[in-house]
Amino acid sequence: MSMSDLVRPCVKGLTPYVPGKPIEEVRREFGLTGEIVKLASNENPLGPSPTAVEAMRAAAADVHFYPDNDCFELRQKLSQHLGMPGEQVLFGHGSDELIHNVGLAFISPGDEVMMCAGPFSQYEFTAKLMGATVVQVPLADWAYNLKAMARALTGRTKVVFIGSPNNPTGTIVRTGELADFMKALPATALLVMDEAYYAYVDDPDYPDSLALVREGRNVIVLRTFSKIYALAGLRMGYGVTTPGLAAAMDAVREPFNVSSLAQAAAVASLSDAGQVTRTKRLNEEAKQQFYRGFDQLGLPYTRSHANFVWVDVGRDCRGVFVELLKRGVIVRTGDIYGAPQHLRVSTGTVEQNGRFLAALGEVLAA
Ligand code: PMP
Repeated sequence: MSMSDLVRPCVKGLTPYVPGKPIEEVRREFGLTGEIVKLASNENPLGPSPTAVEAMRAAAADVHFYPDNDCFELRQKLSQHLGMPGEQVLFGHGSDELIHNVGLAFISPGDEVMMCAGPFSQYEFTAKLMGATVVQVPLADWAYNLKAMARALTGRTKVVFIGSPNNPTGTIVRTGELADFMKALPATALLVMDEAYYAYVDDPDYPDSLALVREGRNVIVLRTFSKIYALAGLRMGYGVTTPGLAAAMDAVREPFNVSSLAQAAAVASLSDAGQVTRTKRLNEEAKQQFYRGFDQLGLPYTRSHANFVWVDVGRDCRGVFVELLKRGVIVRTGDIYGAPQHLRVSTGTVEQNGRFLAALGEVLAA
C-alpha cells in the first residue's frame, strides 16, 4: 500500500491554509530592520481591551485546570448581550472551528455546498474535506448575487455560505435580497451567515440575521472576537442558531474547545464598550484615508463595510505585493480570491495606513 492510498481521496485535493505573511518572516526574507506594517489579516491595530488583558493575567494562574467545557459565564454574558437564549449560542476556537464543525455536523459526500466564487477559503476547505461538491456563484460588482444563488439551489444543496461583510471585498447583503433568498432556500438546506465583521457595519439595510434564527429558519450566524475585540491570537469565535442545529453542532465539538484564557478575555471584552467605539472610529477614519489615497492614485476600489479595503491596482498584484514587502508593508493579494489585479488591505493606524499609501504610490510610479 502506498502512502497515497492511505489518504482519503477528498483530502488529496486539499492544500493547507495560507495565512497573511508573518512580520518576522518578512524581516528575515528581506533583511529589514525598521518597523514592519502588517495590514494582511484584518487584525485590530488598537490591540485588546486592557480589561481583557487583566482578565487573562488573572486566569493564567489556573491553567492547570481544564477550561469550563460549557463556557457558562461567557454564555450567560453573551446571551444577555445578544438577547438570545444561552443554549442557542455556540463557541469555537475561532469561527474557523465553527465552519469546520458545520462540515462535520451537516455535510455528507455528494452534497452540494454553495458559496460565492473566490470565497473565504474555509468554506471551500470544509466542503471539500467532507467530500461535497462545491458550487460557486460569481459575485456581481464584488457583491453576492443572491438572485443567481437562488437560481443555483437544488434538492442536493445542503449548506450555503454567505459572508456579510464579505471577505475579501467588504460588501454586505441587503435585507430585502436576503429575505427573497430565504424564500427560495429549501427546508433541506442550511444557511451559514458568516458575520465575522458585523460589528463594523453601519448600514441601516444590513439584515438582522438573528431574527431569522428566532423565526426558526435553518440558519447559523457566525461571529468572532478576533476582529472588533482584537482577540485573534486567542482563537475565540461564536455562533447563534436554533436549538436543534445547536445540538448537532455541540455533538461534533471537541471537548474543551475554548481555552480558559479565551473565555476570560471574551467575558471582559463584552464589558468594554469603549473598545468597540474606539475601534469603529479608527476604522472609519482609516477607510476614508485609503479612499482619498486611492482617488489620488486613480485606483478603483470597493466601498467597504468591514476593516479592510479591496483595491484594483491595475497590474499583477503579486509584483506589487513583493515590492511592498521590500518597503516593509505586508498586504494580501487578490489572486488567491481569483482577482489577479487586486489587493486586500486591512485598516491600520493612521500612520500605518500612510506608510502603505506612500509605498504603494512609490511602487506604482516605478
Ligand atoms: N470568516 C471570515 C469571513 C473571516 O475573514 C475570518 C477571519 N479570517 C473568519 C471567518 C475566521 O475568524 P476567526 O477564526 O478568527 O474567528
